[in-house]
Amino acid sequence: MITNSDFVRRLRFHAVALLVSAVCAAPANAQPKTTPPAPQCDASKFHLILDVGHTPEIPGAISARGDTEYNFNLRLANVIKHKLEEAGFVRTTLLLGTGEAIPSLVRRVSQANAMSADLLLSIHHDSVPQVFKSKWNYEGKDLEYSDRFKGHSIFVSKDNVNYQRSLAFAQLLGGRLKARGMQYTPHYTESFMGSRRRMLLDAENGVYRFDQLVILRTPQTPAVLLEAASIVNRDEELLMGKEEHQLQIAGAVTEAVDKFCAQNMTRTAKATTPR
Ligand SMILES: [Zn+2]
Repeated sequence: MITNSDFVRRLRFHAVALLVSAVCAAPANAQPKTTPPAPQCDASKFHLILDVGHTPEIPGAISARGDTEYNFNLRLANVIKHKLEEAGFVRTTLLLGTGEAIPSLVRRVSQANAMSADLLLSIHHDSVPQVFKSKWNYEGKDLEYSDRFKGHSIFVSKDNVNYQRSLAFAQLLGGRLKARGMQYTPHYTESFMGSRRRMLLDAENGVYRFDQLVILRTPQTPAVLLEAASIVNRDEELLMGKEEHQLQIAGAVTEAVDKFCAQNMTRTAKATTPR
């Protein structure tokens, strides 16, 4: 006959036995399963160089309505810088050049290398080969335009010493622009682009390979070039004049920089962890 107290005693024994076997079955070093915290970016330490493409004297492309590419580059770079600073990226430097194109470029790269920054982003606005341009008169001025292509494009050089990290940032940036409904232009892969034809490295995020560019090839930091839009396209030129659109691009850059910075923190942590 099993009494109530016997029954309770046996029950307790089985419960303890079950607990012991469960503990013994688990590996000795088992830890409770927790997701490791996502790496955080220390924005105050991250140094970004924003290179403003071209110079006031040699200003690059001329827009459909007669403004210079340099002015577009400078306006957008300032908006991006402000947005980054708001997000805590206070070590954001505008890199400005003057005078002739090539000497200015060489000087800017040497200044960038002296700063040992974490990332260089060169800001440009696009045009098209002459063959695609048409003439029109805008406010009494004879100008050229092409509405055939529109959209941004992103370039990296395989010759940059930090090619993989350049590509990583370019893909982050392309992804953030896409998330805001912006489409890259696919026309750089077309044979009609001739010497300006480029290899598309990432069809999802609109990243092209452009090895020869000095501003991408020679910096010691990861380097990426953004053609923010085609300013010979009459609609896109107007779009790029709107602060709201500039802020959208600046927001995409800031998010991409934040993610890239967090990846950088992970790299640094791994590099300094004793093995
Ligand atoms: Zn340019």
